[in-house]
Amino acid sequence: MRPRRGLDSSSVWAQRVRQLEQRLRTKEERIVVLETENAVLHLKLAETFPYILETVMNFSTSPVFFSLYQGLAGRCTSEVLQLYAAHGQQMKFQRSSAVTQLHVAIKRLKQDLKSLHSFALELSKDFQRQSKTCLYQVLAAVQGIQLQNEAMQMFQIKAFDLEQSLQEVTERYEKEKQKRKALHNSLIELRGNIRVHCRIRPLLPFDDAAGHSQDRQRSFSEKVAYAADDETILVKCSRPGHASVNKTFQFERVYNDLESQDAIFADVAPLLTSLLDGYNVCIMAYGQTGSGKTYTMLGPQLEGNLAFTTEEESELGIIPRATQEVFRLLSEKPPGSYWVEVSVVEVYNNEIFDLLAKDSCGKVFGIKRDVVTTREGKSDVPLLTHETVENASEFLHLVNKGLHLRVTHPTLVHAHSSRSHLVVTLTITTVVFGDNFGILWEDEQTSQRINKEASFTFTQKMRDNKSTSSSRASSPVQLEATEKMKQVKTRLQLVDLAGSECVGMSGVTGAALRETSFINRSLSALADVLGAIAEQRAHIPYRNSKLTHLLQDSVGGDAKLLVMLCISPGQKYLTESMQSLGFGTRARQVQRGQVKKKNFPVPSKGK
Ligand code: ADP
Ligand code: MG
Repeated sequence: MRPRRGLDSSSVWAQRVRQLEQRLRTKEERIVVLETENAVLHLKLAETFPYILETVMNFSTSPVFFSLYQGLAGRCTSEVLQLYAAHGQQMKFQRSSAVTQLHVAIKRLKQDLKSLHSFALELSKDFQRQSKTCLYQVLAAVQGIQLQNEAMQMFQIKAFDLEQSLQEVTERYEKEKQKRKALHNSLIELRGNIRVHCRIRPLLPFDDAAGHSQDRQRSFSEKVAYAADDETILVKCSRPGHASVNKTFQFERVYNDLESQDAIFADVAPLLTSLLDGYNVCIMAYGQTGSGKTYTMLGPQLEGNLAFTTEEESELGIIPRATQEVFRLLSEKPPGSYWVEVSVVEVYNNEIFDLLAKDSCGKVFGIKRDVVTTREGKSDVPLLTHETVENASEFLHLVNKGLHLRVTHPTLVHAHSSRSHLVVTLTITTVVFGDNFGILWEDEQTSQRINKEASFTFTQKMRDNKSTSSSRASSPVQLEATEKMKQVKTRLQLVDLAGSECVGMSGVTGAALRETSFINRSLSALADVLGAIAEQRAHIPYRNSKLTHLLQDSVGGDAKLLVMLCISPGQKYLTESMQSLGFGTRARQVQRGQVKKKNFPVPSKGK
């Protein structure tokens, strides 16, 4: 600011100096003019004076007037002379006083000019001083900026280095994570652990608690379950009057509310490869009503409407996708060396219904069946319908038929909640040539030819002799064929469990209340079975419920079991979610011993 004010005032004063100098010049010019005029007047006077004198002299010497005006002329001449002298003196006086005044003015102006000069000098000195200071400041600022730029460059280089090392560390971390996952998977295989994946569904409009105050609604629909990372779920537990506590649970995989059906299936797909490698596989969705079990297992369509339409394909759940994948994998096997059957069973109010059984008119009708334990200690449902299917569409067509019969009943929690457990079983029977059993087929073509020739007759005979009973393996045709051939059955069980729910919250009464208590009882029976296996008790209470009896081989036997834990994220369902997470945690701890592979021939190299 200061230098600017200095600059302004110095320019004002310089202007003032210029004005005064101008005025001084004008005055001096005026003096010169006046002096010139004076000189001219002097000259004129000098020229005129002799003439006047001569005239006066002529007058005075004229004979006519001489006598008349002699006295007068003499008086005039002296008067003229006097006047002239007086005039001369006056002029002199006037001139000298004007000159004096001018001199005084000039003197004053010169003084002003001098003081102005000194002031201007001061100003310019001040200006110089200030510009110097400013220059120093600018130089210092430039230097500072340069230093800052250098520092910035250093930081940029450091940031780049850090980014690079971060990337390296991230890559290493990812690699280690993969390794850890692989090791963890091997450990799971060795211990026969149950894999537990946990999916948190998004908050949905029906999560708002209708009929409650706004505050209550807000707290009810508040999100409390989060995926902390892809293996940890974090739940904020808060009770009125208590500080909220964060609880975490670890699972093999945790999906956040944005993860797609694709992502869910990507983690399930390796199990299907295991299925084709000779392992039994069971995928079971567990969770409270409305937590997304049916969405995860079937897709968002209402039950009974599954189809491979392109626009909805991305929304399809595990069951249709798994079927597609199984048939894709099977298509790589020699044709005729396998066949696929499907059965659809519902457990409703502790009763088993065969959803593919046909009545005498051939119409599909759910027929009640029973579950028994075979001599080998396996569970079996005598007379259960197994339909042979050639492809995924046929499979889904049958599942859809079965789903139409599935009992649903609207509750307050969720208008389409299924009130029964659904068990879809896909059985692959693979025919293997007896002599080749366990021998490495070096030549893919030979193996295929042998398989094709030998299995074709066998499978044909088997198919011609279609039986609805699962115990048909001991039929005479099969016995005759098994002299040369062996069949290996592997089973994929896909289970959409009914949801557990608090009776008070769901608002059910009457028959629905009875359903709920059956559902809750069967689910606690499942938890009891897991507890007994985990504790390695001699007696496992499979028979306490039809559900556990039916799933005995998958839960306690030789199947690779994946529990897909479904969680509603809202505060409203906190109690149920905690119960489900507790179930999942217990399930993870179950060690069933190494999962056995079915007695398969060693796969050919090409596979
Ligand atoms: P459950 O079978 O556990 O009772 P549903 O699968 O029927 O629950 O899901 C309840 C509702 O929530 C359905 O309308 C379903 O479409 C929806 N839903 C569930 N999970 C998701 C999800 N991950 N994304 C979008 N909507 C979902
Ligand atoms: Mg459901």
